[in-house]
Amino acid sequence: AAVEGFDIEDVEGAIGEAGHGPLPVLAVVGRPNVGKSTLVNRIIGRREAVVEDKPGVTRDRVTYEAEWAGRRFKVVDTGGWEQDVLGIDASVAAQAEYAIEAADAVVFVVDAKVGATDTDEAVVRLLRKAGKPVVLAANKVDGLSGESDAAYLWSLGLGEPHPVSALHGRGTGDMLDAVLEALPEAPEQTFGTAVGGPRRIALIGRPNVGKSSLLNKVAGEERVVVNEIAGTTRDPVDELIELGGITWKFVDTAGIRKRVHLQQGADYYASLRTAAAVEKAEVAVILIDASESISIQDQRIVTMAVDAGRAIVLAFNKWDTLDEERRYYLEREIETELAQVAWAPRVNVSARTGRHMEKLVPGIETALAGWETRVPTGRLNAFLGELVAAHPHPVRGGKQPRILFGTQAGTKPPRFVFFASGFIEAGYRRFIERRLREEFSFEGTPIHISVRVRE
Ligand code: GDP
Ligand code: GDP
Repeated sequence: AAVEGFDIEDVEGAIGEAGHGPLPVLAVVGRPNVGKSTLVNRIIGRREAVVEDKPGVTRDRVTYEAEWAGRRFKVVDTGGWEQDVLGIDASVAAQAEYAIEAADAVVFVVDAKVGATDTDEAVVRLLRKAGKPVVLAANKVDGLSGESDAAYLWSLGLGEPHPVSALHGRGTGDMLDAVLEALPEAPEQTFGTAVGGPRRIALIGRPNVGKSSLLNKVAGEERVVVNEIAGTTRDPVDELIELGGITWKFVDTAGIRKRVHLQQGADYYASLRTAAAVEKAEVAVILIDASESISIQDQRIVTMAVDAGRAIVLAFNKWDTLDEERRYYLEREIETELAQVAWAPRVNVSARTGRHMEKLVPGIETALAGWETRVPTGRLNAFLGELVAAHPHPVRGGKQPRILFGTQAGTKPPRFVFFASGFIEAGYRRFIERRLREEFSFEGTPIHISVRVRE
């Protein structure tokens, strides 16, 4: 069956590409200067690295999507770590600890030219304790002559050292094959209520917005089980909390508690933890301090949750402190600074007084419903047909590109693939997205649209 020049295989191929669920997570750890960042760039492919290379964004971005041999996974990059805040040993160990916690498997990078140092040995002890699968990368083996250096790293007791040159790409394919063997096919946790587990919430926001206050407030006497219901969780950092008659799993709540001994480098840890929590969650409740101006850090956290494709609820906290003037300016700031999530349900709360706590659950349920919405292909194409007829794409170079057919390739979040007769401009894509949202109410969820052009 062909749809105006597209084979059905095209459609199925596109669905296969777009229709993935949550991805397993790989962390790349090691001492400073062993080549972690270079290796991460190699793993994710240069093109994406360049695309992501916007000033001010890259430094805080700690997870990237990668693909090898047809399998996708997330890479946690710890290369942005500032090495001298805690002293090398402590900082490398702490960095590794956090990254390992977040990951399903770890690539441990050692500089083969230098050999194993005491710091490397310290990381090895952490890796052993964590029990996660490890792939040992012996980096800077740029040529054959370096391979004997790599062999010395058998002494670390982590199995076969994989000689690689992150800089030139030598050996990285074999290393990635080993990575795929180490990574689970799908993340450990199963998704959604379909299997009977509680829905997973990440409560995120910059320091001092009131995350721990909110968690304490909602947990209060309603806390049902502190750690574990058999078979639903293995991770003591997650908490099961009953809200509105439903049990929810708040993921990585340990990250919300203060790590007093980590004063310095705290921002870095915070963003790593936020990324990890977001990866594990289905819905992100993003807490914003309404008493202060919306900051770039708030926006980065929002971007992190959007990029991860999570359902999103915005909670404006400390509402008890707002006067009329601040309320006025807050509304203006929300319009300009949070335009990218204008579709997210919003609640104005106070963790201190308990104001509007009962509105959290409806917000979360709305966002999850949008996140899981599936539009039948027939309905989607009836909508697209009418829309394209009423509002055609502008004519370019004497031609009029047209969207011919569309299908929803997946949910959580909704992903669409449109087939077009020519290049569809960004402005028109945004227009289509807006109208899709109006028509099918994707409240609280990012939606992805990819367009395939007939050659
Ligand atoms: P990180 O601090 O662990 O993230 O290390 P970087 O990725 O920033 O690399 C540190 C230095 O090692 C840089 O100057 C890289 O160009 C260099 N480097 C990284 N990988 C290789 C490699 O495979 N061979 C050689 N010769 N140099 C490398
Ligand atoms: P976290 O770092 O995001 O976990 O923030 P905390 O929960 O530690 O809160 C930071 C500060 O804000 C503390 O002094 C809290 O008492 C205060 N705070 C939190 N929520 C509210 C609120 O709703 N209203 C007011 N007035 N203060 C709050």
